[in-house]
Amino acid sequence: MGCSCIKPDLGKGSGYIVPENLFQDPNKRDFSKISTRFPYPGSTGPKQRHKKPIIDLRRLMYANSEASSATVNDREKGKEDVRLILEVINKHSILQNLDEDSKIALVKNMKFYEIGPREMIFEQGQPGFCFYVLFSGRVELRVDNERKAILKAGSGFGELALLDDRPRSATVRTIERCSLWGVDRQTFKEAVKKVTALNYEENKTFIESVPLFQTFTNAQKDALLSSLVTQKFSNCERIVKEGDTGDLFYIIKDGIVSCSENDREMRQMVKGDYFGELALLYDSKRTATITAIGEVKLVSIGRKSLIEVLGNNLEQILNRNSQRIAVEKSEVLKILSTDQKEAIFNTMRVSIYKAGELVISRGTPKGRNLWIITKGRLRGPVGDIETFSCIGDAELLEDPRENYSVDFVSENESIIAHITKEEIEKCIEGTLNEIQAMNEIIGILKSVQLLKGLSQERFKLLIAALREIHYSNGQVIVEQNSSGDSFFIVKSGKVSVQKDGANIRNITKHDYFGERSVLFNDFKRSATVVANGEVDCWIVEKKDFLNIIDDGIRAQLLKRIELQDDIISFDDILPIKIVGKGAFGTVYLTAHKKATIFYALKSVLKSKVFKYDIYHNILLERNIMLQLDHNMIVKLVKTFKDESRFYFLMEYVHGQDLFDVLADLGSLKENDAKFYAGCFVLMFQYLHERDIIYRDLKPENVMIDEEGYPKLIDFGAAKVIHGRSFTTLGTPHYMAPEVILGSGYSVQADLWSLGILIYEFLFGRVPFGEDFNDPHEIYEKVLEYRLTWPIDLDPAASSKNFVQQLLNKNPAMRMGGVTTNLKEHKWFVGLSWERLITKQHKAPYIPKLRSLTSDLSNAKKNPRSLREFILNEEQCEDFPRNLEFPTDWDVDF
Ligand code: ADP
Ligand code: MG
Repeated sequence: MGCSCIKPDLGKGSGYIVPENLFQDPNKRDFSKISTRFPYPGSTGPKQRHKKPIIDLRRLMYANSEASSATVNDREKGKEDVRLILEVINKHSILQNLDEDSKIALVKNMKFYEIGPREMIFEQGQPGFCFYVLFSGRVELRVDNERKAILKAGSGFGELALLDDRPRSATVRTIERCSLWGVDRQTFKEAVKKVTALNYEENKTFIESVPLFQTFTNAQKDALLSSLVTQKFSNCERIVKEGDTGDLFYIIKDGIVSCSENDREMRQMVKGDYFGELALLYDSKRTATITAIGEVKLVSIGRKSLIEVLGNNLEQILNRNSQRIAVEKSEVLKILSTDQKEAIFNTMRVSIYKAGELVISRGTPKGRNLWIITKGRLRGPVGDIETFSCIGDAELLEDPRENYSVDFVSENESIIAHITKEEIEKCIEGTLNEIQAMNEIIGILKSVQLLKGLSQERFKLLIAALREIHYSNGQVIVEQNSSGDSFFIVKSGKVSVQKDGANIRNITKHDYFGERSVLFNDFKRSATVVANGEVDCWIVEKKDFLNIIDDGIRAQLLKRIELQDDIISFDDILPIKIVGKGAFGTVYLTAHKKATIFYALKSVLKSKVFKYDIYHNILLERNIMLQLDHNMIVKLVKTFKDESRFYFLMEYVHGQDLFDVLADLGSLKENDAKFYAGCFVLMFQYLHERDIIYRDLKPENVMIDEEGYPKLIDFGAAKVIHGRSFTTLGTPHYMAPEVILGSGYSVQADLWSLGILIYEFLFGRVPFGEDFNDPHEIYEKVLEYRLTWPIDLDPAASSKNFVQQLLNKNPAMRMGGVTTNLKEHKWFVGLSWERLITKQHKAPYIPKLRSLTSDLSNAKKNPRSLREFILNEEQCEDFPRNLEFPTDWDVDF
């Protein structure tokens, strides 16, 4: 059974170029099973669920066959034309979702079409290409050869073509001579991309020029940018009025404003100037009236939305940020962990001093207090002490037994935060001297996946045993076949692992190597490791290491060694059976011929890679997966290639995919949903910290392993993201609005998908477009954003609150301020992140699995060649074999 309704017309030369099997039963499984998941109020009962295909608009090709008899020109648009087009745009639910600048870009790029009577504009069933606004004349709209409507000047039609090339649902023909404004999808998408990119850069420059935001981190600036609203004012229009209270802050983007007090103009302000910043801080009264001189464009930020995106009010943020800056400048304090610093900030008391007021009096003992100047300046013993400085930090380490010999006086109005030494020691759980020695190392060691579960005591032992060594670019760290017995952790930089001269993987910071030599006796190094740039490593000798590690770590290391058997060759692999078919690959259960290790082998036909132009994706999939080491992400062991295929040899996840688990369980109990949600938060934190966006979260891409923990498989859509991405890619039900609109997105798009998934966990259905299969209809539902909840759900439920936060149309709001806020959401109260990451938390569901022993022994009894096995399974290869490949594109594979 297939989702044939989504299958685009591939024969027409334009359309999604997607593999046919995307639209067939993807796994050759029996999907006739009826979902036992609870029907949602209003639905007609249990329904069948299908696996959902991925959509990738990168593979879209453009060809215009619409309005082919029209003459098209770049006629200039008058005010009235612009008004007419904007009116049409604002009437349509999808176009309404565009921001103002994108709407303007849309209008600007419309061309003028003139076309004779009884001519075809577009035909039902053909891929859509343009959006049109009828300027003069009449057109008729026909469905299945029957006239349904006559459209007159001022009507818009065909707007869905701006999203993708869905087949036209009606035919439109002219009745008489007509003129139209029209714009095609590609032009529109490029224009939107350009304005959003430009706007983003410009707004960022503005934000950076406002001293109020000077202390903002990049993440905070990004959040702020996402909450900017563009406003327009016409000549003489009043923007703010003296005496009113307001909570908006404005930056001038274009035009001039007049600033007057008591009806007297005091000055004029231009592009880049800003006003009303106090409104972000307090309910203050406007001290001036601001009026537009000519057309003025402003961006504004409201206090409320600021709190929403940043998670705190501005005053607190400013204070926090200033304290942070001061602490980062302090040699003594900067080494504290984030948690320790935050604890100190939470304890500090903030006071305001007037000019000339005494802050620290002569005779106060040194070494017992810490002060931070978050605003203003103090006059101290040796000149002025500036904003963002600590006072007394260095003395905290010593015990000077001295007093300050002069007064510290506030020069102007200043804000000072204060904390005592005893309070600091409570916050950091130890003395500064102790903590200082240990913190830096613990901080880094804790981000080594392997060591996450290690107790504090063992950490201390480990630290005592570490040596730090620096290597410069090209230096050999360990040599293949040499004997050695130390374990290496990359503290900073990158190393390359080479085998017989060929590069097999890179290891980056906070990962480790050399584990075989410490676990096995008389071990010869299996690879050469070379510094790739400047590298710092920590080294632990074997005897120390064995003393420190616990059974959990030993087991993890053995598993990794098993999986990192780089020596394994294609001919060592024994095929067992086929386990899955995805959009591009076929996945087999295989085993090592000589050892009891199972692998999954995904084979991807080169001809498909060629035909669907996914070179880039396949290389990305490989490079990204090789980098990853997380116990909830499938591990890639090695890749192979031959003349017709690429192969990914992966850890075999003996389990059940989440899609089937959900079909078995129906909707999940809240605690169970929370368990999985927590795991996904951990995975995304891991990926996003590495600038990797996953882009295709859905139950089909998650396996539930033997321990009941989810594992992310299939990195075919993942990307390393620098800045923003514009490609419409993903699975429609899980796609964020900004992905659908192509208006630029980043890692927060994954959080939207997570929101959809959690909703699905809780209520057994996706929130938008559950009853639709057609991607275009789903897009409309997502953009329409009618988020409904079961009637019996407690409106204050924290699960609801969390899902709502993730399903926010504004990407920045999904984080609830900053990334770490996801984990701190009240829904997760009581969930131990420590126990989750170390897989000690009891999983809600353990898949019922058959043992693989008999499969293996059968396969061993009657061994078949892997190549033949694959040929046999994939014989229905329908692509030409002798394709010409670009040379060398896959050398790294
Ligand atoms: P594609 O990239 O072609 O979509 P996937 O990577 O999604 O292929 O794999 C297709 C199917 O194969 C999955 O849905 C899953 O059932 C199975 N599969 C993939 N990888 C593994 C693995 N490592 N262990 C077990 N099963 C797997
Ligand atoms: Mg897949």
